[in-house]
Amino acid sequence: MTNRTGRHFLQIPGPTNTPLPILAAIAKPTIDHRGPEFAKLGLEVLTGIRTIFKTSGPVIIYPASGTGAWEAALVNTLSPGDRVLMFETGWFATLWNKMAKRLGIEAEFIKGDWRSGVNADAIEARLAEDKAHTIKAVAVVHNETSTGATSNIAAVRRAIDNAGHPALLLVDTISSLGSIDYRHEEWGVDVTVGGSQKGLMLPPGLSFNAISDKAVAAAKKAKLPRSFWDWEDMLAINEKGFFPYTPSTNLLQGLSVAIQMLHEEGLDNVFARHDRAAEATRRCVHHWGLEIQCQNPQEYSSSLTAVRLPEGYSADGLRAEILTRCNMSLGNGLGPLADRVFRIGHLGDFHDLMVTGVLSGVEMGLRVCGIPHQSGGVEVAMNYLSGNARATAQAA
Ligand code: PLP
Repeated sequence: MTNRTGRHFLQIPGPTNTPLPILAAIAKPTIDHRGPEFAKLGLEVLTGIRTIFKTSGPVIIYPASGTGAWEAALVNTLSPGDRVLMFETGWFATLWNKMAKRLGIEAEFIKGDWRSGVNADAIEARLAEDKAHTIKAVAVVHNETSTGATSNIAAVRRAIDNAGHPALLLVDTISSLGSIDYRHEEWGVDVTVGGSQKGLMLPPGLSFNAISDKAVAAAKKAKLPRSFWDWEDMLAINEKGFFPYTPSTNLLQGLSVAIQMLHEEGLDNVFARHDRAAEATRRCVHHWGLEIQCQNPQEYSSSLTAVRLPEGYSADGLRAEILTRCNMSLGNGLGPLADRVFRIGHLGDFHDLMVTGVLSGVEMGLRVCGIPHQSGGVEVAMNYLSGNARATAQAA
């Protein structure tokens, strides 16, 4: 029998649990998006969101899912036939690559193993070969949500600089923004793509392009067709706090509260809380004797952990059992990882008890499904969390 009592545990790696103050802000009546009250809200969120991307430059906010902001990043900076260098970190890098091709971009894809992040040396080597500078942009995913592997964006920046290459740097932070340290300006990123439904703790429906001066200049020459996604109209009217079309007013009301909440906790504390939950999760998984999809500990994601099941066992079967018994949703394996891995989301609004609750649900599921493991993983996570009592940047 399906258990639908108690609160549902939404532990997929986004959308994440939306805290009550954000839900309350979203539930407020919709206001006139061309009126004075909106202008105040518009300016507040357009300015506030810059602090989350760590940029002093503009951030465009679209009423769209992350996929829309991917498209916006490409069509505003590139022209038909332009070459873009991408790296196959997993499912989301693959989708972005496919999108670029559909848009008429020559998208090169450096092969990856879906178990690690971007190899910055490979980027540098390819750019160094490109003496004629036919590659116009490097586009990578900061946190690959399908595998739980992060990439070192500062190293990718260095790779471009070491090669003396003028390519733009485009980065997807959809599952890292507000969960894992990210610095748009300091790392010299030209377009950062973000979404509302993960570290920002909002429902899906908003997405972002943080843009550099170099990206704005590239947009003036870029020839790919665009209308809805065009930065120019946005930038002009955003100055007054308005949008060129009807924005997602209520989600913006929620965004204002989300930004406040992140700053009240302190971004460094937010990152430390994610690091700690991720570490507790990994210790538990290691104790179970299961393998983590990401193979390089330096690239372990703090927002999710993808766990491999032994050959012959079904990750989807396990997830279905856990949903039925414990009313908890876990992330599925994507693409070639379908049924091979399940993904535990530990991002957004959560605390220690939610982390141990999630791990208890998984451990019960492993037991019920007869998946070989060493019991007691939750105990290991509890020992770690209770020995690290305060989730502050200092404690981390
Ligand atoms: N990029 C990454 C890293 C993601 O995790 C996702 C969605 O989970 C996307 C892109 C696509 O975003 P959306 O599903 O909001 O369109």
